[in-house]
Amino acid sequence: MGRIGITLIRFIIETQAGQPAPPGEFSALLAQIGLAGKLIAHDLRRAGLINILGATGATNVQGEAVKKLDEIANEAFIKVCQDSGLVCALASEEMEKPLQLPENWPHGKYMLLFDPLDGSSNTDVNMPLGAIFSILRYEGKGGLPSAPEVVRKGTEQVAAGYLMYGSSTMLIFTSGHGVNGFTLHPGIGEYLLSHENIRMPAKGKVYAVNEGNYHKWPAGTRRYVDPGETDKPEGKLRLLYEANPLALVVEQAGGRASTGTMRILDVEPKALHQRVPLLIGSAEDVSLAEAFIQGKR
Ligand code: MN
Ligand code: MN
Repeated sequence: MGRIGITLIRFIIETQAGQPAPPGEFSALLAQIGLAGKLIAHDLRRAGLINILGATGATNVQGEAVKKLDEIANEAFIKVCQDSGLVCALASEEMEKPLQLPENWPHGKYMLLFDPLDGSSNTDVNMPLGAIFSILRYEGKGGLPSAPEVVRKGTEQVAAGYLMYGSSTMLIFTSGHGVNGFTLHPGIGEYLLSHENIRMPAKGKVYAVNEGNYHKWPAGTRRYVDPGETDKPEGKLRLLYEANPLALVVEQAGGRASTGTMRILDVEPKALHQRVPLLIGSAEDVSLAEAFIQGKR
């Protein structure tokens, strides 16, 4: 249990003092992400009642069926960010290209990449969902970044985190100085610090894999699971708005994130929707899984 009564905004203002990015702008951006989370959580809570479950009939750029809630969540992020004057680029799983802000639009230095609804195949069965976000700064001279300029390496992230819509709504993030978790107090609509300085044990007790894809795994992954998570050799998760932000969070909590052969954050990205295999978790467990994948065990 952390200190009582620390709101998300107060926490950022207190902890970001002295950082190169103005803390006012950064806290405002996190507040907008938190607001998107509140809007989405509100819709999810009554999703079965207002006819927003199921598929839209469309397929996204990754060839996946788009759920109505994918679109609603994507629109919530756009709505709260594009007019904020804080961002210069918005890119998401649900949009083929980064959203083009109009010329002369009020904008800031932040580029926000996000998975607006992670685990959206869970929507129709009332399972937990989340959102993942990656924050970068565009230091180009004036103007807005081009689409290729949004595709950046994980080490360039200035902050990253995720929202979790479980029994509570939570916002977990890092700006490179540890990981902190905030729980939405539904009565007052504020995110309060509930998990201060989250650390990961060197070795975990649980592992998580998508076992339905067992037959598609490389031999090393099967060998490891037969006594962590990678799927097809090219992976399933998207580098820029799933693997990179989660990798930054996990490293800041003392864990590791790997493709099986290299650090996720060092992967040189080539495309906005590029996939990557992801082994993520406690440092010793990820190292052991790497040894199996590399055929050393
Ligand atoms: Mn996802
Ligand atoms: Mn998604």
